[in-house]
Amino acid sequence: MTFNKDLLHYFLEDALQGYSEDFRITSTKNPVKFVLNGKKYSAHVSYVHDSGNARTNEDEARIQISRTMRDAQKEAFRQGDVIAFIGFYENGEVFAGWEPNYILASAATTVTSVYAKKSHNQAAKDFGAALDIKVSPVLGRETQTLAFPKNVLGLYLENIDVLHETRDVQDLRRLLVSAPELVDAKSTFKDGKVEYNFLGAANREKKVIVSQRVSYARNPKFSKAILDVYNGACAVCGKQLGIVEAAHIVPHSHDACVDDITNGIALCVEHHKLYDNGLLLPHINKRLFLNDEKIIFLREIGRDAGIEDVREKARHEYTVPQNTAHHPNADFLDLGLKIRLGKVS
Ligand SMILES: [Zn+2]
Repeated sequence: MTFNKDLLHYFLEDALQGYSEDFRITSTKNPVKFVLNGKKYSAHVSYVHDSGNARTNEDEARIQISRTMRDAQKEAFRQGDVIAFIGFYENGEVFAGWEPNYILASAATTVTSVYAKKSHNQAAKDFGAALDIKVSPVLGRETQTLAFPKNVLGLYLENIDVLHETRDVQDLRRLLVSAPELVDAKSTFKDGKVEYNFLGAANREKKVIVSQRVSYARNPKFSKAILDVYNGACAVCGKQLGIVEAAHIVPHSHDACVDDITNGIALCVEHHKLYDNGLLLPHINKRLFLNDEKIIFLREIGRDAGIEDVREKARHEYTVPQNTAHHPNADFLDLGLKIRLGKVS
């Protein structure tokens, strides 16, 4: 299986959207650029594939990184981005991460191959993490490759340095299995963050792991005003039924977000989610934009059931309030669409 390289950023989007509301992709080209919890990241994304005939054992898999990509990552690092090299197994349920320094230190003049284990895909699903420790001749020390389920990709990125010091797979598993639960249990929040003492690092030195799930406060006045002018009905499908929400057109994660009626639209929970997921997006002139590229991605990973219904909706205009002063602002609509498609830096 090979993936269209224009679709790689969707694997990150799919994993990180559920992690924090302060997440948006700012450049979809590999290495993918994004903002997560106030920090800038540059992640090289690729498919973990069989090493082919050159492999030294049956369980070997790898990713390959071109010189151009390594140079782009060095430049991103110089500019202050957190850099990462991420591989995804099959349909993106499990990721692998390599220590960035290990890849940047490569002396290869063209393509660098770095290795993972095929069996780690299942091990990460079954036990919450897998760990491969090998000696890097270039670094002159051990380096760790991690495999983990997609729900902890955000936690991995936020703690990438500490997690690559992991020596103990059991402690890594305990951390990656329990941290999302800690984040869900809001009682453990401290300034919106969960801190976890991690003992798996070298010399069993205690390290603090941070996991942060930002969710923006909703303004009840904004919500009420939007629901009033749309008569409590979804602008896309017309449903009321008490399942309609006030959606921001320019989302909270962007500085231009304002709580103004012209930056809002009433959407049912389904169409709100499809908007935020960048699949079916209200655009200018009451037109709905259907993201065909994302549909291809969803088909590739076997999660496109129900798409015909979305296509059908996309053929129609959406509804706007009677009073033109309450219509969505065209500039906001355009910006809101571009942000969700990862086209605003
Ligand atoms: Zn709807």
